Amino acid sequence: MRLVTFTLAPRGTIQYLRTMSGDKPKPGSNAPTYPVSIRTAIRPSTAPELNTGRFAREYCYITPAYLQTIHRTVGQHVRVSVDGTKETGLFTVRAISNLPTPCVEIGIDTLPEKLNLSLTGGELAGRIIRYAPHPSYSDSLAASKKDFVERIDLHPTARNFLILAPHGGNIEPDTAGQAETVYKALQTANKNPSRWFCLGYRSDECDADDRWHITSTQINATSFPKLSKIAEHSFMHVISFHGFIAANAADKIIYVGGLSNHRNGLRDALVAAFPTLDIPAFADVDSHYQSAQPENITNRLAVNPGGIQIEQSKKVRTDHGTDVANAVADFIKTL
Ligand SMILES: [Zn+2]
Repeated sequence: MRLVTFTLAPRGTIQYLRTMSGDKPKPGSNAPTYPVSIRTAIRPSTAPELNTGRFAREYCYITPAYLQTIHRTVGQHVRVSVDGTKETGLFTVRAISNLPTPCVEIGIDTLPEKLNLSLTGGELAGRIIRYAPHPSYSDSLAASKKDFVERIDLHPTARNFLILAPHGGNIEPDTAGQAETVYKALQTANKNPSRWFCLGYRSDECDADDRWHITSTQINATSFPKLSKIAEHSFMHVISFHGFIAANAADKIIYVGGLSNHRNGLRDALVAAFPTLDIPAFADVDSHYQSAQPENITNRLAVNPGGIQIEQSKKVRTDHGTDVANAVADFIKTL
């Protein structure tokens, strides 16, 4: 006998939570949750990205028919959780899985890191949730539910300034607050800014960065409804705040990257304002932190040649977060 459980989903729609009996929501259903078989990829020759590289834990592969069932495509984002557990992780559907039965494949280390399961192989019953940011939670509910949301404040007409913090909340702490500081400073200066940011929270067991981080080059606006409102726009100046963990926790480092012509001017302004911080010239920055890929959301949303991405070690954000944001605002107000 098939077990079918009905629960109330956000906004009162019916959500179908099923066992792994293979049945599917009705064609055309907008149900956000679908049952899935989760496989850990142990085939490095055919699924290398799931097991090696900086973004392995962000990627999943999904079989083609199942992708159709859940109305998703390669490049979009889905949440995955294992039945009977509390953890949920956000993934990018990186490629089609060529396994013979419908499933989602994730990396062998992704279960313990992202979903807090000590298993490292085999097949698990789980669920795919089609949305990336939660569609209805308030900021406070997102924090208390340890979830992930997106926010936008879009000026009705002006497209001069866009401030981003794609990894706010606990993902890269303090960055959403810095984006708010700059946004408000630009408002006060009558610069008519817009902003888009995300807030993601850690669970009791798993780090927010593990659970929710989607790297800036992979953020797909078709999975972020609020971001999709600006995905077709080009802003004159885009500034994106980010954080990283330095090798030495005491290191105070800022990398000013992105493809904007004003990148070096901002770096010079920060060097003058913060002589004790380590703010290397662009050419001396590790390529990953140069944020120079055209597909980086910071560059995608800006007019040519692109925007500015500010990467800061944790110690900078903790000790100087607001001061750095104010210095950034002072600079870009002059543009
Ligand atoms: Zn980031």
